[in-house]
Amino acid sequence: MWQIIESTGLVPLLQNSIKHGRLPNAYLLVGPAHIGKMTLALNIAQALNCEAADRPCGSCMSCSRIAAGKHADIQIIGLADGSTRENKSKEIGIEQIRDIQHSAALPPFEGKYKVFIIDGAEQLSNEAANCLLKTLEEPAEKVIYLLLTVNEQAVLPTVISRCQRLELNPMPAAAIEKSLLEHRHVEPEKAILLARLSHGCPGWAINATEDEAILEERSERLEKIRGVMRSGFDERFAYAAQMATQFNQNRRTVQDELGLWLDWWHDLLLVKAGSADSITNVDFTNDLIKMAENYDISQIRVFISRLQETAGQLQMNASPRLVLEVLMLNIPGRNI
Ligand SMILES: [Zn+2]
Repeated sequence: MWQIIESTGLVPLLQNSIKHGRLPNAYLLVGPAHIGKMTLALNIAQALNCEAADRPCGSCMSCSRIAAGKHADIQIIGLADGSTRENKSKEIGIEQIRDIQHSAALPPFEGKYKVFIIDGAEQLSNEAANCLLKTLEEPAEKVIYLLLTVNEQAVLPTVISRCQRLELNPMPAAAIEKSLLEHRHVEPEKAILLARLSHGCPGWAINATEDEAILEERSERLEKIRGVMRSGFDERFAYAAQMATQFNQNRRTVQDELGLWLDWWHDLLLVKAGSADSITNVDFTNDLIKMAENYDISQIRVFISRLQETAGQLQMNASPRLVLEVLMLNIPGRNI
């Protein structure tokens, strides 16, 4: 009943540790957003507390209560905890860690293990990370910490050194497609599309099966992007200005949009190289084949590099307006 799509050997490793009771005090689960870190963390919590012989069974009282978020011994902390404050917190604060310490000092209430899941370990404040470090240095029996992070570099190295590292890598699109077909009963065509668009992160694909708005928003954005590619400089600069404003409000949205640009041009490259079967935007295959006729392969390669440079410069805090305008000037051709 391990729910992550297994391709890395993590499950046998965990199963073995749990079976023999040889568990570290803390695990660090590393991987991109939507890769399945929380799913794996909850599965570990279930495996530790499951009442069946083959753990986790997914159906006993313990497993069900953990899945429903109702188990008294499983505690998840993250930024959301601070959202009730007047100013939404950008860090996981020391009080949240002190609460955990207090709770960890008491024996498990209804299960066998207490499990504390820290969702976003890179967001621990310095104070909080140092406080957590003390806890990790003095392991308590029947208490396990699961630290989840998308950005390992931003986690205090001394904290990392106290954890066993579990890295979750992007899954092959075929494995995600199979899982969508078998477990979510998604239509075959949609399963292929979602598997490709997920870039190896099954959580993204699952969210998109549950929320139609995700695919709708992608279509709208792609429509806009394709319009910009066809347009003259006035419209391209207006787009750059609009993106720059958006960047100042929400960096993530702009980075996601650049991701769409990159996927599109990467697809053009694949079409050009005779690998149309491997493209991401499978629902636009014909448009991509038609558009690819207008470019030679070097033009496409150069523009892909420009897109990557732009994403890098935005991360390095360059002026968003300037770098986006330069990008707009460099879109090859206008003969689409
Ligand atoms: Zn169970």
